[in-house]
Parts: sequence; structure tokens; C-alpha cells
Amino acid sequence: MAIFTVKMRASQQGRHTSGAEKTVDESRLTKTVSALIRRAKEHELGQPDFINLKIEQQNPSQIVFLPALPVTDRRGNSIEETFRIMEEELEKLGVPQPKRQIERLKSLPPMRGAAVFDIACGERLDVPFDRGIRVTYMDEENAFSDGLMRKNPFREALVLSTKTAAAEGMVAELCISDDPNYLTGYIASAQNGYIRLSPMKQKGDSRGGRIFLFDSRKGRFEDAVRFLQEQPVLVTGMPERLFPTQDDCADVIRTNLESQKANGLHRRITVIDSPQKKKIRIGKKKLLLFSSNNYLDWAMNSTMRLKTAAAVLKWGCGSGGSRLTTGTQPPHARLEAALSRFFETDDALFFSTGYAANVGILSALGKTVDVIFSDESNHASIIDGCRLAKADTVVYRHNDPVDLERKIRGCSFRSGLIVSDGVFSMGGDIVRLPEILTLGKKYGLLTMIDEAHSFGVLGKTGRGTAEHFGLKENADLIMGTLSKAAGAEGGFVCGSAFLIDFLRNNARSFIFSTAPTPADTAAAAAALKRIQRHPERIRRLQRNMKLFEQALTDFGFDISVNSAVVPIPVGDEETALRASNRLRQLGFWIPAIRYPSVPRGKAILRAALTASHTEKELRAAAKALASVLIRE
Ligand code: PMP
Repeated sequence: MAIFTVKMRASQQGRHTSGAEKTVDESRLTKTVSALIRRAKEHELGQPDFINLKIEQQNPSQIVFLPALPVTDRRGNSIEETFRIMEEELEKLGVPQPKRQIERLKSLPPMRGAAVFDIACGERLDVPFDRGIRVTYMDEENAFSDGLMRKNPFREALVLSTKTAAAEGMVAELCISDDPNYLTGYIASAQNGYIRLSPMKQKGDSRGGRIFLFDSRKGRFEDAVRFLQEQPVLVTGMPERLFPTQDDCADVIRTNLESQKANGLHRRITVIDSPQKKKIRIGKKKLLLFSSNNYLDWAMNSTMRLKTAAAVLKWGCGSGGSRLTTGTQPPHARLEAALSRFFETDDALFFSTGYAANVGILSALGKTVDVIFSDESNHASIIDGCRLAKADTVVYRHNDPVDLERKIRGCSFRSGLIVSDGVFSMGGDIVRLPEILTLGKKYGLLTMIDEAHSFGVLGKTGRGTAEHFGLKENADLIMGTLSKAAGAEGGFVCGSAFLIDFLRNNARSFIFSTAPTPADTAAAAAALKRIQRHPERIRRLQRNMKLFEQALTDFGFDISVNSAVVPIPVGDEETALRASNRLRQLGFWIPAIRYPSVPRGKAILRAALTASHTEKELRAAAKALASVLIRE
């Protein structure tokens, strides 16, 4: 049967994205071509705008069969140690100046081929220097045995290094993959085989390189190049399949963590040694808390604590099971009734957290409707819910009804949903609710608003965004959390009877998770009562928003305060961290918020206000912010 070599090269705007070649018999040619096209199109470097396919018939009698180099593994405890192992292997091969060879490998500019150095005189042999020598016309025998054409860096490298090692005069090949997900490199030689080395770099690093160390006393360079570039080779006796070791997995995770640290994105948990009140203590240091979502300062309220303690004494610590099996007790039912009365809806559903509520609601609705329109700045729990949904998610520009309408009109659907934060958790700005409700009506879409930061905060009685805008109507689904202004814990959704019944039967975070504890439930119910009985706290919080805006203006900022969440833009992650640490020294706890909570390079200091802050404290915080940000 005729044998063909198929070569694929793909690029996007002139930039190489992927390349591969296969040598197969005629019966597998069509499948090979389509698999290579798929591989080009699905490459993580991006969709190519140019795919070059070259198919050449080979003369079977001219194909050289080479046994695969034997493979061994050597592993370092760090990247530096792995390079030391490489050095040691070069010494074993008698290569002069091993350190210098490794430096050459590390300092190569991005190049498709390999740079070749003559170890007899130290000279670089491949010219011009920008291309390198590209080894082609090679494959493993029976290439299809390893599934269809998914990239397997190890197998491809073993084929290449087996051919390379067979070139006359070749002493060794050194390689670091340019694949940002592949941390393993190697040193290969006819003498000592293929030695896998890892880790050689951090995950996400797309720098790589390949050098050939050649000995001009043992072969002619021109002959070696001809062999590498023209001689068809099939490699036999490839290892069956190489599974990763547990160390490989640990390397991937460890290097990921290292790169988070290197990019200023690593976080540590700070233990606060005092209860949720505005004055806190961390170790011996006393600080004024400006980062709590306990906006109305109910978390330490004595009535709430007594009610919670009484519920624990009466109903116990755990709820015993999921809400649909054994986990619903009178406190849960009472709370849901109270929530639906508060928001004037038919029914309500209580979840263990706001996060669980959003993930459950959106994944369940998204199983049924065709499309979800979601604001680009929505909270992570909404994003995660959309990710779990089968519906398409269409992301519209932040708080931009014009963009939303354009996207709605550009989309074909029979049923859909618009979802938005009520107060955006990082921007602190308020959803343009009237426009969202109008668009919902106009295009027959359900609407859902996450009132996590507006329930208890906006509106005269804390009923959130609809009350803030003075609207009689509200979204179809009002979602919220009891963990913020209510000072307790747990998520909820209120809406019409059929919607809530649907969610009760379909929201998996509700169905498959143990019910909130009697303590959480009682605390939530007590908080809801407090919010209703003490509108003066809401007024105090709203007054504090105005006072803080004035204080920020007086100290030179141009920031409008729309809610209890006040982002102070910084930008650079490290600068934000430094500013936050400095504020801590000055006695203020205002955390730096970085990616992934906000986009990269858009770090903020996020100040959160409570009803209990005094004017003096608000002004002191504004002054401290100015001293670290404006005068820095
Ligand atoms: N939605 C928004 C807008 C939030 O900010 C948060 C909490 N950060 C949640 C939902 C999740 O609520 P919970 O903390 O109760 O899980």
C-alpha cells in the first residue's frame, strides 16, 4: 500500500500556531488529514487564518526504520536542580563546557528549528541563525495506535530525538518544550538514550528551545542536515503509552502555585482575633475594619445571638440532610415564608450560601431556557452558574442596556433570562434596573437580580434595587444572601410559585447539599426581623455613604459612592498590596482585591462601609487612603 507524509502548518496573522506531520499508509490518509486540520483549529494559541497542508507520497523501500531510543526519567526538586542534572548528563557524554551549552539552550530566541553547535570548535553551524535546523519526514510506526492525533509532546519528541541521534556526528540534543503546559524537557543521545528531565520551567511559560551538539570530527554537517531534513524515518518499538506519575501531577500544581506567587496573585488568609465588629484585632494590632460585608452591623447583635443560640439548643447543630429529604425543619419553612413576605412574592427558597444559590438557580434555569444574558461584571457565582448551564451565555457590556439590546436582537431564542448583580460586588455601582426590566418585557425574557449587596442597603426599607429606583415592579427572580447586611449566613431566591417550585426540584446545589443548620436559619430569620424593625440602621448606612463620598472628595479623590462597596482604583497588583499593607500599619483594614476577583492590572482597594462607622472614622479612613495613594 502506498505511504504518504502529511505535513500541517497553521498560523494566525503570520504567527505560527501549530504544526505536525504524520507518515501513514493510504487507508489512513483521509482521516489523518481531517485530524490534522482539527488539531490546527483547536490549538490553544488560537484559530488559524492559514493552514498549509502538504501531502507527499513516499517510496516504501527508502524509508529507514529506527528503534526508539530507550527512555529514562530524572527529576529535580526544583527547576535549578533539573538543570544541574542536565549538566551532569552532558559531562557523562564528554561534552565540553556543559554550563555554556545549557546557557545557549536557555538564551535562544524563539525559533522553529534547532540551533546546532559544533563541540569541536564551539561554533554555531546552522545559518542563517533565525531558522534553525528542522527535522522532518519522521513518525512512529503505526502512528494511529495512540488515539487520534491529539498532541503528545513526549511521543513526538521521542520520534524526533531518535531520528536526530541517528545522524552521523550528532552527540546530543537538549530540549525544553515551548508548550506552556508541558514542563518536561530532555537530553537525548545515541549513547545514553532519551532522558526525560522535569521540571524545566514554570507552567504558563511558553519559552522553549532545542539545540543539537554536533562533533565535526565525527561527521559532516551537510550530511547530517540532509539526513535530518530529507530522509523518511519511521520509529519502531515506541513505548506502549506513558502515563504521568504522581510527581508529574505535583509538578504541574506546584509550578502553577509558584507562578501565582511570582505574579503577585498568591493569597494568604489573615486570622482576625476578634468578633465581626468595626474595631478588630489582628494579633496585638488594633484596626478599624473597612472590609466587612456586615453592613448593618447585625452579626454581633445580642438578640440575634440569643435567637441563634436558642435554635441550637432546641433543634441541634446539624440539619441532618438535604432540604428535600430530612433537612427541612420549622425554622427553614418559617424563614422562607418571611422572605417571600418581605419581597412580596409567592414563594422563596433558602440555600446554604449565596454562592450555592446562584450556581443552583442558573444551572437549573440554564438547563431549560436557550440563552442567558449576563453582565460582564457579574459575581463569580453567577459566572459559575452560567458555566454549568446548558444554555448559551451571552455576556453584555457592563451595565450597558444598549449593548444588551443589541445582543438580544442578534440572538435567536425561544426562552431566555437576563441576570445581573444589583450592586456590583467589586464596582459598587447599581444595576440599571428600569432598563433591564423594560428589555425583559420587550423581548419576553425572565429577569434575575442578585441583591447580595443591595438587600438591607438600598431603598428606604432595605428592599434593594427596585425600592431604590422607586419601582412597583421587580425582577422575576430576586436573589440575595443573608451573609452581608443581614449579618448571618445563607442564600435565598424569591419569585413566583412556579419558578420557586421549579428551582426546588431542579437546583442541584439545593437538592444535593445538606440544609443550612438550625443556627444559620434562625440567625437569618432574626436578621430579617431586625432589618424590618430598625430602618434607622439602613438610614445610617446610607448617610455614611454620603459622608464617605464627601470625605474622599475633601482628601482629593474623585470617587462616587453608590453603595456600601467603595472601590478605590489602583491598577497594579503589587502597588495595591503595598498600599493595603501600609493602611494596615496606619490602623485601617482595607484589603487589596486582585485578579481573578477583578481583571488583571485593575487591582483595587475595596472599602466596605457599615452603619456603625462614625463620621470621624470615615474621614480618618479617607485621609489614610489619600496618604498612601495620592502622596505615594
Ligand atoms: N453574589 C454576590 C454579588 C456576592 O458579592 C456574593 C458574595 N461575595 C455572593 C453572591 C455569594 O454569597 P455568599 O457569600 O452568601 O456565598
